[in-house]
Amino acid sequence: MPYFFRRCHRSLLFPAILCLVAIIPARADGPFPPHTIVANVHYVGSNDLAIFLVTTPRGHMLINTGFEETVPLIQASVRSLGFKMKDIKIILASHAHSDHVAGHARARELSGAKVFVMQGDDGVIRDGGKGQYLYVNSRWQPCPVDKVLKHNEKVTLGGTTLVARHTPGHTRGCTTWSCRVKDGGKERDVVIIGSPNVNPGFQLVKNKDYPRISNDFAITFKVLKSLKCDVFLGAHGAYYGMLTKYPIFKKKTGKNPFIDPAGYRNYVELKEKAYLATLAAQKKAVK
Ligand SMILES: [Zn+2]
Repeated sequence: MPYFFRRCHRSLLFPAILCLVAIIPARADGPFPPHTIVANVHYVGSNDLAIFLVTTPRGHMLINTGFEETVPLIQASVRSLGFKMKDIKIILASHAHSDHVAGHARARELSGAKVFVMQGDDGVIRDGGKGQYLYVNSRWQPCPVDKVLKHNEKVTLGGTTLVARHTPGHTRGCTTWSCRVKDGGKERDVVIIGSPNVNPGFQLVKNKDYPRISNDFAITFKVLKSLKCDVFLGAHGAYYGMLTKYPIFKKKTGKNPFIDPAGYRNYVELKEKAYLATLAAQKKAVK
């Protein structure tokens, strides 16, 4: 039964509006060709949910797991790139919304990996969605958290270091991952944006459930603007124009379209403008 109806059945006491809230973020999804984006950073996600495999000689790191039903798709992609689920040692996340972490428990079980989570999102992942801001009715399989991370903490495996940048607001522990890789003779800075989005229904002013939300978004934009980015990636393919860039990438013209520092700067600028406009409108409305 589709998730939406299942939720509505189970929660007859809740008004229909809560059911609508529970299905955000949406789960329209399908497979996408796995590909090596740059150096040891590979794409193993769906056509919308961006999931990255960072491979090393000592095992691999997986960023995001999608929904529980996304996990078989990840398995197939990992296999088709010539890697093994069992070699995944660490599972990480962009942020604790169902479309990025509901598959964590299953992926942890299949791989035997440890799950590392930024502080602020750790409780939500451990409790299977409980404690989220706004999406009060969204639940998934709880997943043990093996390590809680702090801002700028390094996660190193087999010579590759991922840096956890705390970019809160979208969730309390939203994380942007950055790393430097060797691409042929060149060093490239990879940035995987956690999410800078003020979702519909987010209250930036006088928010009793998440009083720091507006301040947290401001911190996020400060952090994002401070990062050097060559390879622009994010928690959804749509953030970095994956569907447009992939066909160009496939042609192998010698120019990698995922190397897009200007695209990164423009995206962050656009999202900050949207945040500031929403904030101004909400401030005006409460006056
Ligand atoms: Zn989200």
